[in-house]
Amino acid sequence: MNLKINFRNLHPTLAEILKLTLNSVAPREILSVPEWADRNVMFPDNSAKKGAWRTDDYEFWREPMENINNPKVLYMSLMTCAQIGKTTLGIIDASYLIKHMPSPLMYLLPTIHMAESFSRDKFEPMTNNIDEVHEILGDRVSRNSNNTILQKTYPGGFIKFAGGNSPTDLAQHSVRVTICDDIDRIPASAGDEGDPVFLAEQRTESYTFFNRKMIRMSTPTVEQTSRIYRFYMQGDQREFYVACPHCGHYQTLKWDRLHWEEIKNLAGEVIDFNAENNYYECENKECGSHLKEADKRWMISAKGKGKWIPKRPEIKDHRSYKINRLYSPLSSWASVIREYYTLKDDTASQRIFQNTVLGEPWKDGSTVEVEIADLMKRNEDYLTEKRKTIPNGVLLITAQVDVQADRLEMKLSGWGRKKELWTLFYTKFTGDPEQLEVYEEAAEFLKAGHMRDDKVTIHPAICLVDIGYKQNAVLAGIERMKKIVHLPKGIIGIKGGHGDRAIIPNKISFTTKKRYVYYTIGVDRAKDAAMDRLKTPKSEDPAPDAVNPNYHHFTSSCCDINYFEQLTAERKEIKWSAAYGPQAKWVKKKEGIRNEVWDLEVYGVAAEILCYADYDRLYEKYLAEAKELEGLKKAPATFMHEDVAEEPEKKQVNKPKPRRIYGAQTYNPLKIGGNFVESWRK
Ligand SMILES: [Zn+2]
Repeated sequence: MNLKINFRNLHPTLAEILKLTLNSVAPREILSVPEWADRNVMFPDNSAKKGAWRTDDYEFWREPMENINNPKVLYMSLMTCAQIGKTTLGIIDASYLIKHMPSPLMYLLPTIHMAESFSRDKFEPMTNNIDEVHEILGDRVSRNSNNTILQKTYPGGFIKFAGGNSPTDLAQHSVRVTICDDIDRIPASAGDEGDPVFLAEQRTESYTFFNRKMIRMSTPTVEQTSRIYRFYMQGDQREFYVACPHCGHYQTLKWDRLHWEEIKNLAGEVIDFNAENNYYECENKECGSHLKEADKRWMISAKGKGKWIPKRPEIKDHRSYKINRLYSPLSSWASVIREYYTLKDDTASQRIFQNTVLGEPWKDGSTVEVEIADLMKRNEDYLTEKRKTIPNGVLLITAQVDVQADRLEMKLSGWGRKKELWTLFYTKFTGDPEQLEVYEEAAEFLKAGHMRDDKVTIHPAICLVDIGYKQNAVLAGIERMKKIVHLPKGIIGIKGGHGDRAIIPNKISFTTKKRYVYYTIGVDRAKDAAMDRLKTPKSEDPAPDAVNPNYHHFTSSCCDINYFEQLTAERKEIKWSAAYGPQAKWVKKKEGIRNEVWDLEVYGVAAEILCYADYDRLYEKYLAEAKELEGLKKAPATFMHEDVAEEPEKKQVNKPKPRRIYGAQTYNPLKIGGNFVESWRK
């Protein structure tokens, strides 16, 4: 029935009554989320973006917003870069639901603390600025109010803000809609209860026949453990296609088609860049137009008529989306290029770029196996018969000890600037770990200094000893070692711990008889770091003294096939379960394979951290020492002998204190002829 009334023919009072009556009985106009947002959403004054929300500026968000009204869409997963308006989208969706489809709603964030600050600093300022929603929620003022930071009640439902670290919150309520934001930062398990995202989404089950909806959003992290990447792959995998303003060819925006001016020197090396002078090359070969920032704004706006195209259209109830920063109206292509230069230098920064700018997960190299043959090719000649010294890059030496039933195994690692690493010694001290003799031998070995190519001598700074086996005997052994040799950063007991805890000491414990301090090392993290180093290629700088960030050097004096077999004895496996999320675990490749070398490598990661070394200062210090030694060599002195290389700052040159300087071939505490390394490796 379409009723048309000419109100002008009626008495004014009657016309007014009739209008009110008709309004109250007329079906409420159902606006889609984008239509409603365009009419109602204003950015708060404190936000970076000002004025009214216009879906036309964010054409790529139109379809995800419309999904709220689409009963066919059960799941929606958004894998995005940062700074593309994802949080705003979540708040708009929630606001629309409160106004037009009131029902219980859960908004999950990684922690309860983040949930609080999200509600207070983002949700409230924005919804207070949307009159229709503010009328419903009111202000959070009095204690008796139904509106608290973490829960806001309204006719027909409530919105609950929850943290992934708070399992009780997740189990309490049944809800129709869950919005889980930043899900890659949500802990793997809420206490012992399981995956928080799974727990939250389970709460929608009683709404199975009432248009329940599960929305997940996040910038991705590491591919193997990323929740959002997994959800993206499970969904219909949509990408946003925009039309070239010149040829109309639809394409997705890709980082490698963005070009900019680079300034090169005569050798062809890039020495500077000009981010402002950029263009995007249309992928249609017949067109190849150079698109500019203004073209981009047109392409991503409603005028550009961009569209989401699924890779797996056969999946009907799960729409999954991914989008990168090249589409963002909130940042220019030039700013993306500038960000690339600030983040391109090391693996950790490249990962940030990949995740937060390209919106793509980072492939964690630690699940890719390293080849023993490739590692063996790295063997160098330091500490061999040919070259008895250690490289000049070594600025710090750490020692790590593993305790076995009939011996101690020790590894000495040399560290340089940007965490460059040299394996120096791997050696065994045969003896009963319940007796003190074997520790005495190890301590004697730690007394030795190690001469660099430039004659500067470096002593071990720290020694970590695994006390996981025969703890009391090993603790007594450590005390004996301390009486024999003093190391500046100490001789310290450690235990390997599991889980994703930090590498740095996270636990100090005491035994009952005597108070010993030891550290627990989060070995999973340390193993990631050690494996990352094995996969880091040498820098391309050909200079012999070039710094190789994170590169691991080996020497043929102690690294043979057996050494490398042990070094690569474990691999990282990732298992997914619906209820528990990703579970990464380091496992031995083969049952019974020896892995002491790998363990010692992992303790080395912790030892280096515990030294808190200032490598730039050490570099300068030893450089000055080397110059001084060089000067002494040139002077016509008769006392010049290797032994005076020690402690030149004490100016003991006239009264050289005899000290033993051990190269690989000369140190022989067991008085066995030949290479001590060889003599102990049997
Ligand atoms: Zn084109």
